Amino acid sequence: MERYDVVIIGAGFAGAATAWWLRRFGVDSVLLLEQEQVPGAHASGKNAGMARQAVPEPIQCLLAARSVSFFKAPPDGFTETPLFAENGGVFLGPEPEDPRLEQLRHNAMAAGVFTYFGERLEAIERAPILQDAPFHSALICPTDGLVDIHSLLSAFLRGSALRTGVRVQGFESSEGRLTAVKTRDGSIRCERVVLAAGAWSRQLGTLAGGLPVPVTPRRRHLIHSGPIPWADPLWPYVWCLNPEVYFRPESGGFLLSPCDEAVFEPGSPPTDPEAPLWLASRLSEAVPRMSSIPVARSWSELRCFTPDGEFCIGPDPMRPNLFWVCGLGGHGMTTSAAVGELAAQLITGADPFMDPAPMAPGRFA
Ligand SMILES: Cc1cc2nc3c(=O)[nH]c(=O)nc-3n(C[C@H](O)[C@H](O)[C@H](O)COP(=O)(O)OP(=O)(O)OC[C@H]3O[C@@H](n4cnc5c(N)ncnc54)[C@H](O)[C@@H]3O)c2cc1C
Repeated sequence: MERYDVVIIGAGFAGAATAWWLRRFGVDSVLLLEQEQVPGAHASGKNAGMARQAVPEPIQCLLAARSVSFFKAPPDGFTETPLFAENGGVFLGPEPEDPRLEQLRHNAMAAGVFTYFGERLEAIERAPILQDAPFHSALICPTDGLVDIHSLLSAFLRGSALRTGVRVQGFESSEGRLTAVKTRDGSIRCERVVLAAGAWSRQLGTLAGGLPVPVTPRRRHLIHSGPIPWADPLWPYVWCLNPEVYFRPESGGFLLSPCDEAVFEPGSPPTDPEAPLWLASRLSEAVPRMSSIPVARSWSELRCFTPDGEFCIGPDPMRPNLFWVCGLGGHGMTTSAAVGELAAQLITGADPFMDPAPMAPGRFA
């Protein structure tokens, strides 16, 4: 029977970044298994690519800041094309002093990420489409930006053993430890299993005899406008808090989201034909000049959340050689480099660069 030190289930950002860092820490016998024909077929290949460092959870700010530093200066040869464009990010609040924006600024600054409240005029200078938008505060994050997500995922996967079209269907165990993963083509022995299966993580964890970590998948739509003559690729991403809606420059036009979050079962969620209407309705309130933006294409995918909103990274308390990397919510691309590094440190027993306790799966025991 085949044997690996580590088998990673899932070739999205969680699995790919963990594999990349494991190799950096000297673990070469790593196999990634991906049920789809291509890696990144779910959230990791269909997200908005915005690297956002000011988020409501302070721990995720630290992870985001560390990742963005990595994206700006990756190791030599990591990618062949530029990974990161420092367009900046602008958050718009409906009140002159919005406590949510204050909190985002506080968290970002504590993580060493410079942000400031800009004048209305400055926000409009950065994205002139905001001219008659009814916002009263603007938090500006100049070092945020846009990531080439396909290039990033490919870079994390380069050099790792990856098998696509292979679904893990079960596990073998002995004396409380997992000994192999089962696939349609047979079992693969391993010393350790990493569960980086996004929306499927909870059901796989249960199948492995681990903790049923409560990870809830929530659907989110993205809409591409197609090319628009007045679109400027240098604009920042713009995130309005009320009503919640965001947009960023993309492929000669814009990528936009109505920030929907309905709960769905693991899988490929259906794309609702009404999503462009939700978007138009939110834009008509938040950025009226954008409300009749054309729609070239829409899609949706699942973002996965734990009940407390923190990531789930660490060993399973019931199966010591089962390791979780999931529940990355809406920030799994931005934080991927740091998440993979932390996971690899914990797996190899190296000193972690931060206290992982708030993310431990055992908190759900
Ligand atoms: C619309 C949208 C916009 C987003 N925008 C942003 C953004 O701008 N910035 C940001 O930082 N984040 C964003 N995110 C969040 C980010 O995409 C996710 O946090 C991240 O991709 C999660 O990565 P993952 O590897 O955990 O999950 P996934 O990408 O879902 O990967 C899990 C993989 O596991 C595989 N798998 C599952 N079960 C099995 C099995 N039994 N056997 C083998 N393989 C299996 C799946 O096929 C899947 O490929 C967005 C997400 C969505 C949906």
